[in-house]
Amino acid sequence: MITRRTFLSAARLSLAGFAGLSLVSAASCVSLKNTRARLVVVGGGFAGLTAARMLKSLLPAAEIVLVEPKASYISCPFSNLVIAGERTIAEQTFGYSAARAEGVRHLRLAAKDIDPVARKVELSNGDSVEYDRLILAPGISLNYKALPGYSAQAAEMMPHAWEAGEQTELLRNQIAAMKDGGTVAIVAPANPYRCPPGPYERASLIAHYLKREKPKSKVLVLDNKDQFSKQGLFQAAWKSEYGEMVEWRGLSDGARVIEVDPDTNLLKTDFDEYRVDVANVIPPQQAGSVALDSGLADASGWCPVDALSFESTIAPNIHVIGDAAILNQMPKSAFAANAQAKLCAVQVVQSLAGEAPIPSKLLNTCYSLVGPEFGISVADVYQAGGERWLEIPGAGGVSPTQVPMSFRQDEARYARGWFETITNEVFA
Ligand code: FAD
Repeated sequence: MITRRTFLSAARLSLAGFAGLSLVSAASCVSLKNTRARLVVVGGGFAGLTAARMLKSLLPAAEIVLVEPKASYISCPFSNLVIAGERTIAEQTFGYSAARAEGVRHLRLAAKDIDPVARKVELSNGDSVEYDRLILAPGISLNYKALPGYSAQAAEMMPHAWEAGEQTELLRNQIAAMKDGGTVAIVAPANPYRCPPGPYERASLIAHYLKREKPKSKVLVLDNKDQFSKQGLFQAAWKSEYGEMVEWRGLSDGARVIEVDPDTNLLKTDFDEYRVDVANVIPPQQAGSVALDSGLADASGWCPVDALSFESTIAPNIHVIGDAAILNQMPKSAFAANAQAKLCAVQVVQSLAGEAPIPSKLLNTCYSLVGPEFGISVADVYQAGGERWLEIPGAGGVSPTQVPMSFRQDEARYARGWFETITNEVFA
């Protein structure tokens, strides 16, 4: 009999997913067994914390320093359930004690600047920490300059909720306070941005809440693109589950939002103006600000890297992973960040041992919840082809369209299993 515990530990092993790689890199690990190298990781999210713990397990004698100002981490995955009133922020919150217990040194400071020549990270208290190798994983920053009228102050009235925590609760509270018959607008950005299916999962889960509590209300998605992740599945499910409640308008419908006014909850598009009751404005994004300030991003606002080693093509000895990096066809997801982090840790060991990077493939699966018991997914396998991470044609796929409801319920269960497994692996 498979108990929940044996299922979880099996899932933990398969998520580790790099048994083969660990064996291949065993020679490098042996040669570096006593290394006292200092490996610094900036950012303790899905990418950075995974990398720090993986490096500690591969090189126990090395000094692994995690630079992360926060005492705890609040997960974006599953935060749309908080907005729908189906979860609490406490259930989204995870700590760093397991990593510390393993010997990772956690500096509760922000990285201010990186000097790739002196190989040091300037810290928010004025100190600095030198490194032999740096893994940079600061996630995203919101590009307020890209949307006239929007700013950090405007986000207090028109929450983005694209960094989980207070913003998530603010959006939740605004929707809970809205009158029946009101309109919740979601402004979705152009690609690339964190979590491609995230705005549409959010529209779905808000509709799930409104259908039960405020059935005369509406969810309006104003999109800066014409196509989105799992579009056919989402649109079919909106119709079957929520009737006319969710309305999506794309770029060709003139729905690109070009300016906002937080004082009047006004959204201006190329052709129209929408005065809405709740405005969830998800602005364009770029790499975390320390990457921008240190000159490690290119004109796109994201950090270019060598595909296989994740080493910055701008500065040597710095590896960039997770949302901040340009990884071509790989989406900016927690699943992908975690997978990249494990491979990157192995490649750093290879490089310290003077060995070539190991060719590999990476997997990503993005689950989305249309309702708490209605899941859909897309999965892909990626290979580093030259400079880029590219999908392997035919290796992935999306959920089928015509299936019984039990199939959707199973996928919602897999989504919960994935979340429990990844948060256990990264934080516990
Ligand atoms: P982050 O998780 O953002 O971590 C970055 C860390 O760096 C943070 O802890 C931050 O405090 C720290 N940091 C930033 N700057 C500095 C600095 N200067 N010094 C030190 N530390 C710093 N992905 C999925 O796979 N599945 C999902 O279902 C899913 N759902 C999502 C739903 C929503 C609503 C959103 C917004 C995102 C979702 N994602 C999902 C995407 C996922 O959250 C991100 O892709 C993932 O968090 C990226 O990990 P990261 O480590 O690169 O960045």
